[in-house]
Amino acid sequence: MESGGGGIRFEDLDLIYMIPFDLGGPVKIEDIVEWLFSSKLVKKGGRLRRYEDRLAMLKLIDLNMTITDPRFSYLRELGCNLYLILHAAGIAVVTVWIHLSADLSTDDVIKIEENLYNASCIIKGPFGEIEERLDNFIDGIIRPLQFVVVFGREYGSFDKVADALTKDHIIASKIEEKLRSSDSHIYRVVCIINHRCQDGCMTAEDVVKGHLKEMAGILTLYGNWRHYRMDTAKEILGENLSRDASYAIFMTTDASLFIGSTVFDERPESIRDAKIEYLKAGATLVAAMEFLQLSRMFLEVYISVYQRKSEEFWRRWERGESVRPSEVMEMRKELMYGLEEYNNISFYAEHPYIGIIEYGKERLGLSNKVNVLISGLQELSDMARTFYEEEALRNQENLSKMQVEFSKIQVVLAFFFGIFGAFQAMEYLEPKLGPLYAAILTSAIFLPCLIYIFYLFIKGRKSSS
Ligand SMILES: [Zn+2]
Repeated sequence: MESGGGGIRFEDLDLIYMIPFDLGGPVKIEDIVEWLFSSKLVKKGGRLRRYEDRLAMLKLIDLNMTITDPRFSYLRELGCNLYLILHAAGIAVVTVWIHLSADLSTDDVIKIEENLYNASCIIKGPFGEIEERLDNFIDGIIRPLQFVVVFGREYGSFDKVADALTKDHIIASKIEEKLRSSDSHIYRVVCIINHRCQDGCMTAEDVVKGHLKEMAGILTLYGNWRHYRMDTAKEILGENLSRDASYAIFMTTDASLFIGSTVFDERPESIRDAKIEYLKAGATLVAAMEFLQLSRMFLEVYISVYQRKSEEFWRRWERGESVRPSEVMEMRKELMYGLEEYNNISFYAEHPYIGIIEYGKERLGLSNKVNVLISGLQELSDMARTFYEEEALRNQENLSKMQVEFSKIQVVLAFFFGIFGAFQAMEYLEPKLGPLYAAILTSAIFLPCLIYIFYLFIKGRKSSS
């Protein structure tokens, strides 16, 4: 533990890691839940919260971690809860909730939030005891789920899939190729319930005023926070999202922060009530961030699918292969579905989160990602039209070739009918007028016909050349 950090110390805090990931394709929530129950990852009667058949949250097992990493040996034993949010579009978030009750400086908090996830430790759970880093342990939950969705259910049980994955690294790398997006950006939430300050900061308001750089450091995981300029730190913090003066909430692209007050205001009857109040407010932030991380992953998956597919379309088109407009429109439909589902996610978010979620959409750049998808819709429409016109042009070429063939037939037919018509006329006129007058009259009647035949012949030659 270090003593540096502007005199403020943190005593009672929660560190939450969120790991959003792609499952590789749409899923049936019941199937995944069934799979998880077949694993040792959900307790019997494990809590499942269903928002509807598109979205569910599952409480996974509780863990105990003994930290063996020398950097964090002072943390010793830590309790850890795991949760999983599942969306039927095949997007999920694992939440790892760790409680820390140590006497920590700002520098300690930054180091812990950055590296505890990959610190060596002994993890104890219903499965027994294993020596494993937390990140590898979480991978051991995520990978089998992706495997089941991507390669089907042929392995029969969660444990068999997990076994196959640890034995065969080739399979593991194959999953990576099959995912719509392999990006997994870890997000952190720090909830500080209790702090102590030599400068006499009591309320969350005091802390924000007196320790702006420390707060900015925690929010950006930046060890050199002392070098921040004040206005930079202020800019990093952004808006205070708390509606209550007794606590503060800030959000950046890397992490979010909740800070309570040392002197609890008079509204809660006792300190215990105040703590419950803070834990509830902290949990509100965590729930909102889970929705935002799910939404972010959602948009990234659909952007990645769209970009890959539209590049493939253009490549095929440039090579002169045919791209059917219906293929493009199918892709557009998938994108529309993605956008619709994305909009639905916020509906599940309950009232107290809405303010945080709306702010987060801007701060985390989700609105920009939505715009990428909306212009994607437009691009796909344009692309479909280009391919359609291309196809129409090709059809038209075929049509004019057919027209040429048709005029040749016309010439031949007209010629035969003309000749036969003339013979018939001669046969009919000769007994009445004699051969000379019959020939003159027949020529007078059939000359325009011959000229027309000649005209069709010329036209046919012109259009075939
Ligand atoms: Zn202070």
